[in-house]
Amino acid sequence: MKQYLVKPETKVKLSKWDPNDTGDFKGGKEEGLAKLEKLNGKLETLQELMFAEHKHKVLVVLQAMDTGGKDGTIRRVFDRVNPAGVRVASFKAPTEEELDHDYLWRVHKQVPGKGELVVFNRSHYEDVLVVRVHNYVPPEVWGKRFDQINEFERTLAENGTTILKFYLHIDLDEQKERLQARLDDPTKRWKFRLGDLEERKLWPEYMKAFEDVLSKTSTEYAPWYIIPANRKWFRDLAISSVLVDTLEGLNMKYPESEENLDGVVIE
Ligand code: AMP
Ligand code: MG
Repeated sequence: MKQYLVKPETKVKLSKWDPNDTGDFKGGKEEGLAKLEKLNGKLETLQELMFAEHKHKVLVVLQAMDTGGKDGTIRRVFDRVNPAGVRVASFKAPTEEELDHDYLWRVHKQVPGKGELVVFNRSHYEDVLVVRVHNYVPPEVWGKRFDQINEFERTLAENGTTILKFYLHIDLDEQKERLQARLDDPTKRWKFRLGDLEERKLWPEYMKAFEDVLSKTSTEYAPWYIIPANRKWFRDLAISSVLVDTLEGLNMKYPESEENLDGVVIE
């Protein structure tokens, strides 16, 4: 999945990234789902190991346009994982109290502790995305945030956090279909807001904002992946693969018992 990694300091042009891509994966949906199931099992084991070892902290950041699939990704990638070991932090429009503080205040409180895996459903990146597109703060303010975010993430990384960031890349046609599906399906209507249609009109502005994010904040210590996300099964497979590979690379070990258990007999 290395081809989806954004190398630090490269200029990203999203029109050059194919949202329908399925990369080196030669199988179709059925094979993809079978592979995902295997990865789900691996992730379950790795997460338990991580919890037991109580050493590493893992942060997964998900960003996407509306209907990009953040919720579905969380549901499918973490399908088998023990809910006790994973926490999802969702960032909505800030409250009054949050707005009274700097934009990282609410975010820093949610980062993972030792042995914990945290998924950010939206994140501090909204403060250079929606905030920029809607001019909630002037350019002098959001413009400084790329460096601030890099420094914030560096601090987390240097203090033992493994950070993975995924941009779920869909196109305008796919969004249309997914919005229409929400409108047509009574079980999905609750997700539909008229405001989503206003946001959709700002698609080009959002793409520009995402391109800046991807170009300026993909670092060795907190890389961005651009995940082709028109095909949901491939999106889930790609993210699971990166996550499993990364966790395997941590070379975790189950801890020894702190007591001497040699010769212990259970009566
Ligand atoms: P949803 O993910 O569909 O539940 O929507 C959450 C909403 O919160 C989206 O419209 C985001 O754009 C908005 N949001 C998240 N973070 C911020 C932020 N820092 N400033 C303004 N709006 C935000
Ligand atoms: Mg929404």
